[in-house]
Amino acid sequence: MSAVGAAPFYFAPEIERLDRSALRRLQLERLKETLGRAYTCVPHHRQAFDRAGVRPEDLTSLEDITRFPFTVKTDLRDNYPFGLFAVPREQVVRLHASSGTTGRPTVVGYTADDLETWAGLIARSLACAGGRPGDVMHNALGYGLFTGGLGFHYGAERLGCTVVPMSGGQTEKQIRLICDFGATILNATPSYALNLVETAERMGVDLASGSLRIGVFGAEPWSETMRGELDRRLGIRSIDSYGLSEVMGPGVAMECSQRNGMHGWEDHFLFEVINPETLEPVPMGQPGELVITTLTKQALPMVRYRTRDISMITEEPCSCGRTHLRILRVTGRNDDMLIIRGVNVYPSQIESILLGLPGIAPHYQLILSRQGWLDHLTVEVETDSPSSEEDRARLANQVRHHIKSTIGVSCEALVRLPGQLPRSEGKAVRVRDLRKEGA
Ligand code: ADP
Ligand code: ZN
Repeated sequence: MSAVGAAPFYFAPEIERLDRSALRRLQLERLKETLGRAYTCVPHHRQAFDRAGVRPEDLTSLEDITRFPFTVKTDLRDNYPFGLFAVPREQVVRLHASSGTTGRPTVVGYTADDLETWAGLIARSLACAGGRPGDVMHNALGYGLFTGGLGFHYGAERLGCTVVPMSGGQTEKQIRLICDFGATILNATPSYALNLVETAERMGVDLASGSLRIGVFGAEPWSETMRGELDRRLGIRSIDSYGLSEVMGPGVAMECSQRNGMHGWEDHFLFEVINPETLEPVPMGQPGELVITTLTKQALPMVRYRTRDISMITEEPCSCGRTHLRILRVTGRNDDMLIIRGVNVYPSQIESILLGLPGIAPHYQLILSRQGWLDHLTVEVETDSPSSEEDRARLANQVRHHIKSTIGVSCEALVRLPGQLPRSEGKAVRVRDLRKEGA
């Protein structure tokens, strides 16, 4: 069943359709408050403002934000665990933390009001994605320190959905419950959604003809080709969902049924796009690094947080009627960008190429190593059905050829049989950089 053509359903109609000049006035008012609170209550921000020679009072227009210092991930680590909180710890009713694969995790906190805001934004986001009160939401995002599971949980309840707090893992059980409970919304990382549908197919369960209507997918980069794959195999409309723990968690931006970029909720966040090298603003509609300032967060106000995420934004009106700007697909983090023999490559670019090749399954891993002085890229993929060694050798040639002709890097391609590559239980691990591991 398609949501296209159905009248849009707004969770907060006045604010979602507020005209842009009123929206900007609201942003300015809230930005002044946020900068004031950050300066008064957080020594780190006070010192950073002082070093930059700016005071909160210096902000008289939204454009003045560019005079204020950025906040980066290491600022959170350096102030571990609670140093950036703007309220006494006793007022923080919830903590979350990032996975922190390297070094200390980054810790984020919420007051009771922050949790209210978050639930409201998730409810709004789910409605934007096409969700309605009465939907059954199967939440396969991880519960725990990760913001994904609990973040969506309370927002879906707020919208009036029946929430299945499944979390990750136990894939076969997930499939049975999706069928038995009649889930209409699936919430997952796109790579785990793929794992689910594949397992279902192996079990002989056709999810595409079942109750699911919408897939809300995010927390990792994914491509349009992957979207097509998930739409078809799950019989849903897949919706892109964006957020990050440092500024809140999920619920920062969500696509509407037009699927032409994610509406970023500007009454709660100020979005900028900068050139990551010069740190100067990038004109609207051009790619750069997304920088986000929170406008209403109490426990952890964030000033110009450098997300490292590469994207672009547009203020072009959307036919859904929502006036909030749209963030076009996030192609990857700066940090995920691979530099292979001087060529900048995002794993998502390689994903698009692989998924465009008939016979290749959407599972892949990129392995980077050093051969002598040269970077060496190995692309491991799977076929979508059992195939002969000859066929796989032919596919490997195609993979090599397409990557070379599209991105300009030579690689080695290894084509495996179905099921030979590891499956995602949450965020997929796409890259193994043996150069970093010292191998
Ligand atoms: P962790 O830091 O533990 O990985 P976060 O939830 O804070 O957990 O991760 C947020 C990051 O996930 C974002 O900064 C971005 O890089 C990525 N991300 C989230 N949603 C999307 C999306 N829709 N498309 C691409 N990347 C996304
Ligand atoms: Zn829209």
